[in-house]
Amino acid sequence: MDNYLPCDVVEINSLENLSTWDTICVIESVPPILSCVFEEHRSFDKAFDSEVTCFKDPKTNIRIVSAPLGELDDFDDVRVYARASEKAISRAIKAGGKAVILVLPEAINTSGRFQYSALQTILGALHELYVPIQLREDVPDQKQRIEKLGVYHSNAGFLKKVVDDSLQFERGRFAARDIGGGDPERMAPPKVATYVENLFAKTNIKLTIISDLAVIQKDFPLFEAVNRAASSVARHNGRIIYLEYEAPQNAKKTVILVGKGVCYDTGGADIKAGGIMAGMSRDKCGAAFVGGFMKYVSETAPQHTNVIGVMCMVRNSVGEECYVADEVVTARSGARVRVGNTDAEGRMCMADALCEMKQRALSMPDSHLFTIATLTGHAHLAVGVGYSIVMDNGPAREQGHGNELKKNGDLIGDPFEISTLQREDFSAHQSKILGEDVIQANNLPSSRTPRGHQTPAAFMMLASGLDKHGTNSSNPLKYSHLDIAGSAGDHPDTPTGSPLLAIAKTHLI
Ligand SMILES: [Zn+2]
Repeated sequence: MDNYLPCDVVEINSLENLSTWDTICVIESVPPILSCVFEEHRSFDKAFDSEVTCFKDPKTNIRIVSAPLGELDDFDDVRVYARASEKAISRAIKAGGKAVILVLPEAINTSGRFQYSALQTILGALHELYVPIQLREDVPDQKQRIEKLGVYHSNAGFLKKVVDDSLQFERGRFAARDIGGGDPERMAPPKVATYVENLFAKTNIKLTIISDLAVIQKDFPLFEAVNRAASSVARHNGRIIYLEYEAPQNAKKTVILVGKGVCYDTGGADIKAGGIMAGMSRDKCGAAFVGGFMKYVSETAPQHTNVIGVMCMVRNSVGEECYVADEVVTARSGARVRVGNTDAEGRMCMADALCEMKQRALSMPDSHLFTIATLTGHAHLAVGVGYSIVMDNGPAREQGHGNELKKNGDLIGDPFEISTLQREDFSAHQSKILGEDVIQANNLPSSRTPRGHQTPAAFMMLASGLDKHGTNSSNPLKYSHLDIAGSAGDHPDTPTGSPLLAIAKTHLI
């Protein structure tokens, strides 16, 4: 079996022989052989088209799970298919299903808001079937929730294409779920490095891992400040992981992704008190996305696009070595940064890598730089669960990047909201003290700070020197900051791997 899928996935384009299957899940389209039994249940149960039901088909003796979409209106999007599919699979497992067929929507839409309904139906099932890495490793008996998933559509050509697409996405999301969901010890920085080494062994991805403290001190001083407390414990020591994919033919564009990988965020000296620390092992989901996205890149091998991922893996620990507010640290860019709050560590751990990538971007074709992070509680509060936020700099905005990403995200079921960087975001981080250029953060939680999810993007531009690459500069560089605090999947939900679908659709497909 594929190590990065939750079970075997089988394409089925006939329901004639069901002898090796025990359950059929129906979301929207009812296969002709089941139409009588569906009519019977519909006439008997008024809630049949709005509730999940499970029953036996007397003709085939097979278990049926019906998870209808219900009534849809203007404010529903294609994710309704994934949600219905998750419910169907969950019910099938509760009923004892081990060999489950999922029936895809029969209509093949090539335009409109539901054109990715079949893809979302499959991805919803795979999301539900995911088993956390620690359970797979510790209790091998439980490493799969079912033995196999069949995916049914009457058109074999369409079926093959949508299953192939879904599995490519899912292998990336699976790796992102493993890295993002592992606990603070299982997915501490050195272990993330080992996981990624296995993930990309003998592939088209070049891997470089920095673990040498002297190199980190010299080249990544802001990252080093965060890592200082953790680095005294070998198994928590930070790693900077580079994943590079070079297009086989002459590259026309370059996508560079820098992810926040805070494997555990205690807040540091500004400790997260009062019960708000739990769940902070998910603060590495930006870097987890980068790892998962590179898995997708590795599988799909884009012909004309270079992709570089940087995973900034660090633990924000507390101890006698921990960095504190008021320290002034000279960033890789030369900017002198005054620490305001040690809980604003995400921007610190990415800014030097962003500075390094900014230099590299200048010599690559049509570069677009990204930071991706579960950066602020403010983002979560502003857009809620299930939505990522994009903030473009001038050159990215000029190309309409945010609008394009939003349009694609809405279509493929990985939605974005657009936020706009304003003058005030930069003013908020400008120091007024001689000898200090940038203030890292104020000392309120982001959720109590005006523009709390926008200003960190301005900080990263100032601290990395990207502010000198605007539309009027001699070397404009596109840069977008993505805050995924609302979309990455908080404990106890399964990590989502977002925004893999939207970024892939916008930049690779
Ligand atoms: Zn923090």
